[in-house]
Amino acid sequence: MTIIPSSPLRAGRPAPRVAPRDVEFWDGCARGELHVLRCEDCGEHWFPSQNRCPRCQSEAIAWTPVGLAGELYTYTIIHGPGTEGRPPGLEDAYPYAVGVVAIDEGQGARIAGNVTGVPLDEIRIGMRVRAVFAEGVRALPDFEPEA
Ligand SMILES: [Zn+2]
Repeated sequence: MTIIPSSPLRAGRPAPRVAPRDVEFWDGCARGELHVLRCEDCGEHWFPSQNRCPRCQSEAIAWTPVGLAGELYTYTIIHGPGTEGRPPGLEDAYPYAVGVVAIDEGQGARIAGNVTGVPLDEIRIGMRVRAVFAEGVRALPDFEPEA
């Protein structure tokens, strides 16, 4: 597990609104762990959460821990917030990358997060990444290149 101090970008972000069914996921992130949902009837894995299995519609679902490693499925570079202007304190946050990562143990589940620890022009679809977490906060993980 890698815990990183809060970045200037993260420090300005609002905390996520946590739905009751997602408490285990967010608490896991605060401990440096990733979870995805798993269907107890058919074995499907997915993220983000929904109340029923997306394959068989079963309500017998549960969070299951998965490893932190994965492959960058896709990404985009965010250059600015658009026409509303840059939020106070975040003027230097741009550009940054947001990616979607296929988690190795997620059996198809993908999780989005910022791609950090790599120059933006070196980010590639298919690169090996690993989730890292901001210490003690409920936030999506960042994904850094695997060491
Ligand atoms: Zn199912």
